Amino acid sequence: MSELRADKSSELFRRAQRVIPGGVNSPVRAFRAVGRDPLFIKEAAGCTITDADGNEFIDYVGSWGPMILGHAHPKVIEAIREAATRGTSYGAPTELEIELAEEILRAFPSIEQVRLTSSGTEAAMSAIRLARGFTNRDTVVKFEGCYHGHSDSLLVKAGSGLATFARPDSAGVPADFARHTLVLPFNDEESVRETFRQRGEEIACVTVEPVAGNMGCIAPRAGFLETLREVTREHGALLIFDEVITGFRVSLGGAQELYGIKPDLTCLGKIIGGGLPVGAFGGRRDVMERLAPVGAVYQAGTLSGNPLAVTAGLTMLKLLREIDPYRELERRSAMLERGLSDAAGEIGIESSVNRVGSMMTAFFSTGPVTGWDSAKSANAQRYGKFFRAMLDEGIYLAPSQFECAFVSLAHTDEAIEKTVRAAQKAFRAVEG
Ligand SMILES: *Cc1c(COP(=O)(O)O)cnc(C)c1O
Repeated sequence: MSELRADKSSELFRRAQRVIPGGVNSPVRAFRAVGRDPLFIKEAAGCTITDADGNEFIDYVGSWGPMILGHAHPKVIEAIREAATRGTSYGAPTELEIELAEEILRAFPSIEQVRLTSSGTEAAMSAIRLARGFTNRDTVVKFEGCYHGHSDSLLVKAGSGLATFARPDSAGVPADFARHTLVLPFNDEESVRETFRQRGEEIACVTVEPVAGNMGCIAPRAGFLETLREVTREHGALLIFDEVITGFRVSLGGAQELYGIKPDLTCLGKIIGGGLPVGAFGGRRDVMERLAPVGAVYQAGTLSGNPLAVTAGLTMLKLLREIDPYRELERRSAMLERGLSDAAGEIGIESSVNRVGSMMTAFFSTGPVTGWDSAKSANAQRYGKFFRAMLDEGIYLAPSQFECAFVSLAHTDEAIEKTVRAAQKAFRAVEG
């Protein structure tokens, strides 16, 4: 039984369910995968998040990635406060948008032009439309377990067998839309080569999370991203890196810097908004110039480049360039990884901890997790138990086995040590 007092959260959840479907504005927040009701959050600062009942937790969700410097960073908050006094939206261009674009270009040499959106979903959806418009082809290749937002052509799951078209992964997505998407296993070079051999001339683009973050953290195998680069180039398709999580996370220049691969288009989000709604897609100039108003591919947004959101993002990116937190994040994350692996090992819990920089997932699996098949074999029931025990110990993890824990610069050594001690207890609870 949980020791956590959650009277206020329970009351809010009841109230929310009357007026909001499932009580939440994004499904995973409902905690269904971990077998309890969600906590309602009142405030957050640094690595700490506080719920409506006043319980404090060390937070590893970090708003699903953006909070790489911790919650409520004073410089980001001050910049937002100051920007708000000048008005919150104009629907006309501002110098701030140029500055954010320039900051993105500085960090990502593959990006020659960039368009801002208000979410990662919009960025990924627009990049696909652009790739189709540029190549005059309709077919999109994506990988099982990779998430690119909830637009129709990307909300699909694998059909049976190689190079069969996908099926809708949600009610409301016409099978006719899903038919334009091919879903292949992540980290499987041969299936990519075979698919291109069979249908290379129909494929507009390959879109991939260069480090998968939405089936838990899974690194690309050596050669996988290189293969994607090679076959897309060979067949005149575009390579899209969805770096909505990894951009400014695994290094300033994202996974493409880490692995030395230059995609044609890149999607960004999460960190680049500093906790406010921002997305972006950018890349080769000759491709980006196909966008309206210069080109024929339409894309727009009333609040795109919103001055508050852009200010938050710009402040965040400048801080990241100045602080260069990546070595320190690596050290702390390695400390957490070691602590979790050792704790599981001591108790004899079968688990596999995957990590790339400050993205990490402890899978309750018997073998290594390298793609969707191995990820989904992990024991979600055990994760649910672990999650609830960690919550009781004051640690707030993602409410699903198939997500990352995000370490921020606000996670001190003490916070990580406390997390490891909590995990030692929680693993015992899983075993018991
Ligand atoms: C979160 C995410 C998205 C969608 O971004 P939203 O801002 O939630 O619309 C797209 N791609 C990846 C890789 C993501 O992690």
